[in-house]
Amino acid sequence: MSMLNFASIREIQDLLAKKIVSIDDVVDFYIDRFKKYDGKIGAALEVFDKRSILEFSQSLSGSLCGIPGLIKDNICMKGRIASCASKILEHYQAPYTATVIERVMQAGGLCIGRGNMDEFAMGTSNETSAFQQTHNPWNYDRVAGGSSGGPVAAVAAGLVPWAFGSETGGSVRLPAAFCGVVGSKPTYGLVSRFGLIAYASSLDQVGVVTRTVYDNALVLSVIAGHDHRDATSLPVAQVDFTKDLTGKIRPGLKIGIIENAFHAAGIDPEISQALEVVMRQFEQLGAILVPVRLPSMDYSAATYFIMSRAEAASNLARFDGIRYGTRSKQARNLEEVYELSRAQGFGHEVKLRVLMGNYVLSVGHAAEYYQRARDVQNLMRAEFMQRFEEVDLLLSPVAAGQAFGFNAFGDNATQMDLQDYFTCSANLVGIPAVAVPCGFTKNKMPIGFQLMGPALSEGLIFQTAYAYEQITAWHMHHPQLAI
Ligand code: GLN
Repeated sequence: MSMLNFASIREIQDLLAKKIVSIDDVVDFYIDRFKKYDGKIGAALEVFDKRSILEFSQSLSGSLCGIPGLIKDNICMKGRIASCASKILEHYQAPYTATVIERVMQAGGLCIGRGNMDEFAMGTSNETSAFQQTHNPWNYDRVAGGSSGGPVAAVAAGLVPWAFGSETGGSVRLPAAFCGVVGSKPTYGLVSRFGLIAYASSLDQVGVVTRTVYDNALVLSVIAGHDHRDATSLPVAQVDFTKDLTGKIRPGLKIGIIENAFHAAGIDPEISQALEVVMRQFEQLGAILVPVRLPSMDYSAATYFIMSRAEAASNLARFDGIRYGTRSKQARNLEEVYELSRAQGFGHEVKLRVLMGNYVLSVGHAAEYYQRARDVQNLMRAEFMQRFEEVDLLLSPVAAGQAFGFNAFGDNATQMDLQDYFTCSANLVGIPAVAVPCGFTKNKMPIGFQLMGPALSEGLIFQTAYAYEQITAWHMHHPQLAI
């Protein structure tokens, strides 16, 4: 089955169509890869048994027929645990299935298991998971990135050809860049949040992880489109995002180069150099590069910090040991049920964020923090919209540096939060973005670039990224895995 090693969805589909492999072979192959390699990587919290994996499929002809993926553990699959990598939901069984999973099932796709993540998607390195660390397949001494580290590491290591992560501030794109795979964050409202356990509802979206741009467009086509069960779902029909992947870019395409982002303090020169090459390649493809400034971006991480904590504090109130969450056995009265269940169930980072969220919303502070953050968010929206009158897409790095080591920042939490600098604007503004591999550092760690576009420009983003992918070979590299 060596032809399945690091295969893309498209390649697997081809092997299935030619009857060189069967769906049974595919499932056996990936279960076996998890057994062999995941002990050292730590991408999955659970791999299901073969029979239940096969039972996901509800179609023998859909566009994901027989193709298994790993699901971040904040996305509900009926009857299965959805722990959010938190002790408080360690035994929580989802009572229903998320829309994105239903659509995968209707397309014949398979879910192979549950992916590790930062607790409640709060983190940048998967180190806040209550259960295990996820190691970067390119160097096991480094993090895979977060918060969708498990799903992303699994795709990078060829343990699955696709995975679902979730995005609130960059949680699919950042690990994708750290691990050398493609990660997308759709327009807010394009993909249903029904069955996605909330972190910050006005920013959250399910995001897709794959080895190639084509595959990413394919999976997004399956899950995008209106869902009446999500009040923030946009009234748009399902679209086939693969149809404009011609290998060419749109004639006259203007790509804005975010100058202040390229010169941001602390950016690793190896990343800037790789991005310079990307610019030349886009020029080769016929794009017109336009330098632009987005001063509001410099405030994005701070704004994201406040908005995400505020919404997290509200969303996580439901985990009280009564409505949701494991109830503390030591509690002797109602007050203690709340206090002890939350004290014992939540990890340090989650507690910090809930505290911070309540603080920025509290009387006396809301005007100073929350309201100002909202004002800046509105400014950012206006500024981005204005830029998109001048250019079609925006190009930037995904991260300022390469994947870092475990406990790299010690107690310097701000340093960790600044990792979101390039990514969280897209969430705050509600626009789509994709991270695409574009090289390696001298010590062989992956580098990625990011393309952002106006709302509902997924088709154009994929078309442009695909054209780039066709003239480069970064997506064909894969790590050497240790057993
Ligand atoms: N790193 C960001 C955070 O910790 C992003 C998280 C996310 O997108 N879920 O909040």
